[in-house]
Amino acid sequence: MAGEYIAMSREEVSDFASGRLTVDYDLYSDLKAKHFLIDADTDVAVDLLALKVRTKLAPLANFTGLHIFVTTLRCEHSCPYCQVSRANDDKREFDMTEETAMRALDLVFRSPSPTIKIEFQGGESLLNMAMIRFIVAEALRRNETAQRNLAFVIATNLAILDEEMLAFAREHGILMSTSLDGPADLHNRNRPRPGKDSHEKAIDGIRRARTALGHYNVGALMTTTAASLSRVREIIDEYVRLDFGGIFLRPLSPYGFAIKTKTYAAYDQKKWLDFYFEGLDYIIDLNLDGHEFIEHYAAMVLKKMLTPLQTSYVDLMSPAGIGIGAIVYNYDGTVYASDESRMLAEMGDTTFALGNVHDKDFADIMLGDALLNPLEQSFAGSVPGCSWCAFEPWCGAEPVFHHATQGDFVGKKPLSSFCTRNMAVFRGLILRMEANPDIKRMFERWANIV
Ligand code: SF4
Repeated sequence: MAGEYIAMSREEVSDFASGRLTVDYDLYSDLKAKHFLIDADTDVAVDLLALKVRTKLAPLANFTGLHIFVTTLRCEHSCPYCQVSRANDDKREFDMTEETAMRALDLVFRSPSPTIKIEFQGGESLLNMAMIRFIVAEALRRNETAQRNLAFVIATNLAILDEEMLAFAREHGILMSTSLDGPADLHNRNRPRPGKDSHEKAIDGIRRARTALGHYNVGALMTTTAASLSRVREIIDEYVRLDFGGIFLRPLSPYGFAIKTKTYAAYDQKKWLDFYFEGLDYIIDLNLDGHEFIEHYAAMVLKKMLTPLQTSYVDLMSPAGIGIGAIVYNYDGTVYASDESRMLAEMGDTTFALGNVHDKDFADIMLGDALLNPLEQSFAGSVPGCSWCAFEPWCGAEPVFHHATQGDFVGKKPLSSFCTRNMAVFRGLILRMEANPDIKRMFERWANIV
């Protein structure tokens, strides 16, 4: 719970648990140093552990830090795996209005978090640039009195990025986050648009955005499809070629168009894990050869494993990150507990719709049953399977995923691909660290970067 682990054989665990482990075992001092064992000479360990656990849980008091505004559902791409169920790009009724934005900002500034990040998403968020300008101006105005640490991110495919947009982003220190699925043929296949030039547009947009905003103020995310599975090295090479400092090898989520088009069913968890570990080992080799590059999912897990700090990545939070880690204001004012909750609603399941900004206030939304029930019921420390799992302190509670795939907030963990994936990742990271001290040092670096 406090950010220490020790790898033991089954026999050693048995000896330890049954009280047969004596001082002359080599393991005794290791267990004691890492606070798994206290004896008559121990005086500080329990207080120290309490302090570490308190540090780990402290961010919970800050409540929601990430506020996602869906400025429009319109998009000029037609990606088959799209998790957002986008609308055609001429349908203005899917744009956020100023009135809705103002009500949503009321909620944003009710959050006690000292750090507030407003992220613009779509559809293609830039298709409603007027709303981005309006929200940035209004948030900055309100922040003159609120005095939060305020940041903005535009999530965009960059295809329609123009110089005026870039000048606005530069003027307000706005970061950009884009999609990059790998080499041109793979990216274009995954992300079709008229002109079949999605990759070219993304690369050109990344170059221009870096020039305007600074190299490290432009990030990229990839989505794994069945077509990606045999090409992890090429995907990583593309990120290295474009001088990104790392990659997030993401699994596909079971929402939106990904389910309608059966893309989610196209490969199972085992195939994704093979893809993931081939990529991770390739990245480890790159680092061992002197090229610094990180895998972000591993780095976030390692942060939980090796430090007394938490990650703000919603999937790895328990209590779950829905609502309290991030919250979504849809174009029509409906508030969702997470991006995935919005995707689920697009499929007709509104379980995680928390209310609408036009008729609910902060307390209704943040203290309503729609949010508190899944948070309470899915808490990993107290649910079957997780509560006695050695990996629980590193794992997360994923009520939206388990509701979407199994019909309840907890899920039967032996049948959960979330559980299968995380267990394999935790074991894989430990095995690699235990096998090679250079990898352990590398992982310790990663844990402190993210
Ligand atoms: S690995 Fe599985 S059982 Fe263990 S805490 Fe995570 S979801 Fe629960």
